[in-house]
Amino acid sequence: MKEFNRKFCPNCGSDNLKWPIPQNWSLWECFNCGYTGALVIEDGEMAQEIKEKYEKKKGHSKNIL
Ligand SMILES: [Zn+2]
Repeated sequence: MKEFNRKFCPNCGSDNLKWPIPQNWSLWECFNCGYTGALVIEDGEMAQEIKEKYEKKKGHSKNIL
C-alpha cells in the first residue's frame, strides 16, 4: 500500500484535507471534522489509529469489542 505524500487530519485521521489559504501555506482544514491547523500527519498507519479512536469517540458508531 502506497501512502506516499498523502496528508491526514491529526484530529480524525481523514485524508479529506484542503488548503484554504494559499498565502498561509502552513494552515490546513479538514472537511470531515472541521479541524484547522498547521499540523497534519503523513503516516498512514498513525492516521488509521487516529481514525479508529475518533470513530469510537463519536459514540454512534458500532461497538467493536
Ligand atoms: Zn479531521
